[in-house]
Amino acid sequence: MNDLQDGQYFYHPLENIEDVDIFYEATERTHLTKAISEERPYTYWTIELYDKENGIRGGGGLGILAADTRRVAEQMEVPFALITPFYPSEVHQKMVNGVVVDEHVPVDYRKYGFKFIDKVNVKCCDNLCALDVIEKKFKNTRIIAITEPNFGELYSGMSGSDHRLYQEVALGFGGYAALKLIGLKPAIMQLNEVATFFAALARLDELARNGMDFYEAVVYTRKHTLYTNHTLVQAAEAEFSYEQFERFVFPNLKSLAVKKWLSDKFTDGHIKLSSVTIEIAELRSGVSKLHARVANYRDVAGNKVKFKAITNGIDMKTWVLPDILEFYQSIGALDDVLAPTEGYANKIDQLTADDIRRFKRKGRGVLNEVLRSRPNQYGKKLEFGDDDFIYDFKRRFVDYKRPELVFRDPKRLRRILEAHNAHYILTGRVHAGDATMSGKLKRVLEIIDGDEYLREHVHYITDYDEKLAFGLSCGSNVAINIPIVGLEACGTSWMKDVANLNVLISTHDGGVADGSINSYLNVSGTNENVELEMLYQQMEAAAEIWENDFDLEYTLKTQLDTFLPVISGARMMQDYLDFLFPV
Ligand SMILES: *Cc1c(COP(=O)(O)O)cnc(C)c1O
Repeated sequence: MNDLQDGQYFYHPLENIEDVDIFYEATERTHLTKAISEERPYTYWTIELYDKENGIRGGGGLGILAADTRRVAEQMEVPFALITPFYPSEVHQKMVNGVVVDEHVPVDYRKYGFKFIDKVNVKCCDNLCALDVIEKKFKNTRIIAITEPNFGELYSGMSGSDHRLYQEVALGFGGYAALKLIGLKPAIMQLNEVATFFAALARLDELARNGMDFYEAVVYTRKHTLYTNHTLVQAAEAEFSYEQFERFVFPNLKSLAVKKWLSDKFTDGHIKLSSVTIEIAELRSGVSKLHARVANYRDVAGNKVKFKAITNGIDMKTWVLPDILEFYQSIGALDDVLAPTEGYANKIDQLTADDIRRFKRKGRGVLNEVLRSRPNQYGKKLEFGDDDFIYDFKRRFVDYKRPELVFRDPKRLRRILEAHNAHYILTGRVHAGDATMSGKLKRVLEIIDGDEYLREHVHYITDYDEKLAFGLSCGSNVAINIPIVGLEACGTSWMKDVANLNVLISTHDGGVADGSINSYLNVSGTNENVELEMLYQQMEAAAEIWENDFDLEYTLKTQLDTFLPVISGARMMQDYLDFLFPV
């Protein structure tokens, strides 16, 4: 601990840094020797989990993916431990006088079946912080969470702030100690984004301080760590300062060699966690084919980082209307772990327009049920009949997803809705403190309010959550997904739509670009105005498709042919297992 007082000390680079590189290069990746077992599970680290059934609400896709990954592991009987914080408070949004405001709601883990195990400590700013270790066990998976009353909310404060660093350090060092406490060793550590870097660091430190040669410890940790990247540009990532690390990180390291190693990674007194995550994880993946290809990351030496493409999938059981899921299984398109069968494409051919319309009526009932407690922006209760036609746009209210694009020409939007007796449902949370997007949402609400027809037919629902996501994907007709091309890493809400037999209108981005441009209603163009024109045209086309049985069958079968394997969570898990444990 004494040497921590001297910040300068850590600026000394390792004398023989070249040796490390040579050593890395010399060690070709051989496959992992330790197979997965109950005591040595697949471990999955995530700062965000969206699994409200188990008490934890996330912010968006990253958390949904984490929850789905565990559920799929459960179905596939893969021993699996997910390690995450349990946030004692969560944010909701509601409308007050036409303005969306945040509401903070306390959450108690005891109400969700978590069991208190014991406490572990992390060191922060000369203090010991005690964290509760809690656990919820399932058949072959478990959620291990760390928490304390002042842990704060998910993504509270600025990225790069002390509080974020504290949360990340607590998850990494606290979570690793929790794993040991429970008696588990990781077969693999999957880091769901760089906020979980400290878990791998904790392992490196443990190996190094317990007598393993430092380089061996590095190699060992690298071979057992997978960094899953969901971001496109490294430049946008927040940095931490050396001074912050002196207060939150170094005090938790016992190995002097690890401290030196980490200190060497600072540039001008700052560090991006991705740069060290790349160093500590030999295995790296991106979340769609396009994303893995275009993610622009450099390692410390300045070389471009290669990511293995493993496209995200969804847990079918969670997201598909039970009737539809049963149908997929009964025709033999999905097997008993809900992975597509070899001949799935031929099986899908049995889907008829009658089936589709029957499932949609059922889904509409589910949507109405969800909407019962979710009035629109005017406080109006919504209920849709079988003859109503519904477009939806459901996703976080962030700029690149372009929630406001369709409102650029309100008269055109009105004409489309009028022509097809259609409604447009918009839902998505604005991130706390995002002034740009709350401004855009306000503007959208004004545009709607300015037109008497739109007022009756365009509905904004606050506090977008997993229930709305489910209700809309099974109850609406057309889903609109139009991120600026190149900015969506994968996206999963469009997967829910494809599985639930919605017509998908999308830009060719994220996981959608795993398929061909002809497998859904594509929006593209050399500039935003061209894209917008195409969006309106595709909205017309989608309505016409639903008016014609042949077109409806053809469109939905084409979507399923292309995307059923892409969206399958079981396919994703198998891809990870094949990548991590090659035979
Ligand atoms: C599926 C889902 C997401 C993922 O959304 P994308 O925009 O596709 O990444 C986010 N939030 C909720 C509540 C979801 O159900």
